[in-house]
Amino acid sequence: MIIDCHCHAGKGDGLTGPWDTAAPLGDYLRRATAAGIDRTVLFAAFHSDYRVANREVARIVQSRPDRFWGFAFLHPVHDRGRVEAMIREAVFEYGFRGIKVHRHDARISREICEVAKAYALPVLYDVMGEVSAVELLATEYPEVPFIIPHLGSFADDWRAQVALIDALVRHPNVFTDTSGIRRFDLLAQAVRRAGAGKVLFGSDGPYLHPGLELAKVRALGLPPVEEEKVLAGNLLRLVSRRGNAERRRPEPARRSRRSPQLSPELFAAAETAEVRDPWAADPYAA
Ligand SMILES: [Zn+2]
Repeated sequence: MIIDCHCHAGKGDGLTGPWDTAAPLGDYLRRATAAGIDRTVLFAAFHSDYRVANREVARIVQSRPDRFWGFAFLHPVHDRGRVEAMIREAVFEYGFRGIKVHRHDARISREICEVAKAYALPVLYDVMGEVSAVELLATEYPEVPFIIPHLGSFADDWRAQVALIDALVRHPNVFTDTSGIRRFDLLAQAVRRAGAGKVLFGSDGPYLHPGLELAKVRALGLPPVEEEKVLAGNLLRLVSRRGNAERRRPEPARRSRRSPQLSPELFAAAETAEVRDPWAADPYAA
């Protein structure tokens, strides 16, 4: 069994680049099938309204439920105040199994982490090199598994990637995916130091070739038991926690009590999270 834990799908509503324009799956599926990939986790491309984008991903997932699983994309600022409602819809109507957040949109919020914890969902959060955030997430939300893709930096910032390996070693709830990692020795080091249980196979399709990305995992030359964890076992373990969320499903009459709106304090905390770090020049301020 091989599961790709990171692939985009559907249309974006921007025209900046492929990332917010479209993520067509035709070539991806042909390549993934040829590579022996059985199942793929899909989430949206960048979008100004993830409620719309998640709905499109749900349609794609429902067209091939044997082949696709969905994660709900959330924008920490645009979706503020409606995260719980979006995740309730994603879990109970779409059958989604996780959350995706990208630092390019905004820094992840407490609101999102609280909802991930309540629904027992893993969060795939692209930190764009801001690995220091992982330290806070891992310790504030030890119940939430955080998958930090690309070893912390799609832009190949090796300082960030080396720092993320340290976080992988120290925090039981921090994971990474293999997508887009070009420095093979850092990938090998991550598996060696943190263990195969902390690394998930992902392709970042359709933008990257799933067969090429899979070849990197094969090239690690892991014992079969370890390779199986990277290729499928780790993801299966993280998404099976969803069983807890299913049992939590509220009775309609009790829904308002069981699904409270977040407190003003949490909104305030989310607001503060967007304030620039006063101690250092913020590389993302530009
Ligand atoms: Zn991606």
